[in-house]
Amino acid sequence: RAVDPLAKDEQTFRTVEELGKVDPVAAELYYSHGQSMAKQCGGWFKKIGGLFLRMLQMVAVPLIVTSLLTGILGLGGADDVGRMFRRTILYYVATSMIAITTGLVVVNIVRPGLNGNAAPAKPHATGEAASLGEILFQQVEAMIPSNPIAALVEPNFLSIIAFTIAIGLFTLAVGGETSQRIADAAKAGFEVMMAMTTAIIKLAPVGVFFLISYVTATQGPSVFKALGWYVLAVTIALAIHACITLPLIVKFVAKRSPIEFAKAMSPALLTAFSSASSNGTLPLTMSSVEKRAGISNKTGSFVLPLGATINMDGTALYEAIAVLFIAQLHFGQNLPLTQQIIVAITALLASVGAAGIPHAGLVMMVIILQAVGLPIEMQGIILAVDRVLDMARTSVNVWSDACGCAVVEQLENSSAVLETAA
Ligand code: ASP
Repeated sequence: RAVDPLAKDEQTFRTVEELGKVDPVAAELYYSHGQSMAKQCGGWFKKIGGLFLRMLQMVAVPLIVTSLLTGILGLGGADDVGRMFRRTILYYVATSMIAITTGLVVVNIVRPGLNGNAAPAKPHATGEAASLGEILFQQVEAMIPSNPIAALVEPNFLSIIAFTIAIGLFTLAVGGETSQRIADAAKAGFEVMMAMTTAIIKLAPVGVFFLISYVTATQGPSVFKALGWYVLAVTIALAIHACITLPLIVKFVAKRSPIEFAKAMSPALLTAFSSASSNGTLPLTMSSVEKRAGISNKTGSFVLPLGATINMDGTALYEAIAVLFIAQLHFGQNLPLTQQIIVAITALLASVGAAGIPHAGLVMMVIILQAVGLPIEMQGIILAVDRVLDMARTSVNVWSDACGCAVVEQLENSSAVLETAA
């Protein structure tokens, strides 16, 4: 609460607290005037910045649907894809869950939102009354929308993602011309939605300015200290996943040297870092996997396009940390375990639904914020540092896709050897 020097009876005070010791009434007046000014300005900042958030929300549903459909339908109608598909999906889900767990552990230890933030503890929007079983069951229920159109309108993202995956899989099952037509339409829609999202993201600096001003006016500058801790937490967790977890999987499941493999993938990883787009990096990821790491085209062309859309370990981990950070700032305390489990499940789905383009993770975060009852304007605070974190998480996304290729290739080869032996 440092303020300009305050003068009273020719004495100068550096802070309202100092003035308060001499004249509590004057201090209170000064303080409440400042508070109401901040509130008023904050209100407008929030409204203007909110326009940017509305645009992000506007593209969320069509972007998720077209991106997911394109990813799944890109698999083509091959008949022998069943086993490879199961292995790929298993790898994707398992590594994303490990990434989310890593993120949750780190954010619970570092507690970025409780560092330097003086917000008093507030009760959580939804209490801990429901049991864990009930909460999990509610999520399962949400995945089976009784009315998919209502889910789109609401929007209920969990239902939308689950239903879109079902449509994709059954379109593949129907195959033929029908499948081709739906795939073409999804691809066309996805291109348009990507163009629209990219244009909206260009407005980010303006949105960031207003939202950050709103957060600072209402929360005070101590929020920046918390932001530093947040960047640190995301970086540590991403580093653990990329440099320990995935290399262990490459070593023991894919039976390759992680260092050699990382070297082979370096052009793709560096491009992912600089472009912050898994989709944009895809051609390079494919050529590095095949030409530099010696993985078959069959595996690469199956695992990678799907991975660029639905396997985003870095994004999943980042979503979990970001939402917990926002919750810490907002509530002044950590989310209870049951709520953290909801964050984990929704973060997985959000990462599946996120398109492989810059800042797509931000668009998807609304899902998780909504699920745990947090105000979406709070997202404003993390916008300022999103680009650099996006670069890092995109590299992890691409690295995980590549490791998935190595794993699936190894498993396919060993089954082929077993089949020949039999
Ligand atoms: N930029 C990321 C990617 O392309 C997605 C995200 O924003 O998290 O993989």
